[in-house]
Amino acid sequence: MLGLNLTVKNDDLIDVMGDIYAKTPEALNRLLKELRKSGYEVEDLRQSDYRKKDGVPVATMEINGWSLWFAKLPNLRFGICGTCHQQISTTGIQSHGHKCEKCGAVTYYELVDGSTFTFVFNNDEERGMFAPELRMKVKEWDTENGILYLYPEFLKGGLSVVTGEKAEAYLKRNEGKWSYGSVGQGKLIAIKYDLNWNRNTAVIEPYDHYGSYWNHKIVKVWKGKQYAEYDRLPIPETISIYESWHWAPLPVSTTLHRRILSAARQTDDKGWHYQDGRPWFTSGHWTEMAKFIRHFTKLDADAFDRAWPSFRRDGPGGIDDFAHFCHKEAVTRDEPNVGNVLVALGKQLDGEHVTKQESEAAIRGLDDPMTRNFLKGLQRR
Ligand SMILES: [Zn+2]
Repeated sequence: MLGLNLTVKNDDLIDVMGDIYAKTPEALNRLLKELRKSGYEVEDLRQSDYRKKDGVPVATMEINGWSLWFAKLPNLRFGICGTCHQQISTTGIQSHGHKCEKCGAVTYYELVDGSTFTFVFNNDEERGMFAPELRMKVKEWDTENGILYLYPEFLKGGLSVVTGEKAEAYLKRNEGKWSYGSVGQGKLIAIKYDLNWNRNTAVIEPYDHYGSYWNHKIVKVWKGKQYAEYDRLPIPETISIYESWHWAPLPVSTTLHRRILSAARQTDDKGWHYQDGRPWFTSGHWTEMAKFIRHFTKLDADAFDRAWPSFRRDGPGGIDDFAHFCHKEAVTRDEPNVGNVLVALGKQLDGEHVTKQESEAAIRGLDDPMTRNFLKGLQRR
């Protein structure tokens, strides 16, 4: 199960989407013991701080089928120094000027000559979604004196980044927060910018940067073998564990599809999906849900195995077909949001066909408060 050597008796442990459901206390105890033996740290979520802070009763967690245990492998991440190639700690490895503890080479510079830096002045101006930002190339970051030197040119970059006269005007509005300076030849813009940035005293606030100097990589080490940072290990790094005896089998209801979709980490909101019919659901989704249905609901699991191959594959269609399978009067959610508006707008601007479903979702998405904020920002530009 999940690449782990676990003892399972009569299906008393079931994995769905990488989570494990224990059907009995005995199965749970055996599972936790075997996971600990395999190197996992196991957290008892009944005792977790966030549960205590929120004041959620344990009985609620049990009846509503929350995960009650969380297993994770201990920290497996290490740095590899780009100069000496030795395994080093990841602590601070990606902060400007950090030095390798083995050979002293610098592992990272955030800003170097040629880096791109986007920022705003820390002033009283309202920071709406489209408030002006400047994007400029870095010449040098003098971290000892806390001064950033930028080439006096404005780069383009998205909706909020201003250039030309707008950028000049923005600089002028913030006179006194910068000066002309130089590093060797050439006129540069010099701005106070400390290594230890503090919102209350900072002159500028960084938004993004790229073109950093990297002299390290992050790896994962498991059982003596090195893996790339985002590679999958042969076993899961984390596992959520459920105790199904508190709530299973779930009765058939008009909302059961929600519970099953969420076990497969899927939304039951059709509005969240693209509305143009593009495929979303794969056989993997349905076969994971099939396990959940068979072991934890009163639905006819054999009938489901026969039914799902003919479900529509797009998000909204798949949700409808599945919900209808679960209950003839199932209630599905359809709450379009700013995303639906943007997709439709974007397609129209590109001269692409907008489906009826898309335009309807976009119109209803206009009522979403996020959309209203977004449009307000657009008008203020
Ligand atoms: Zn080194």
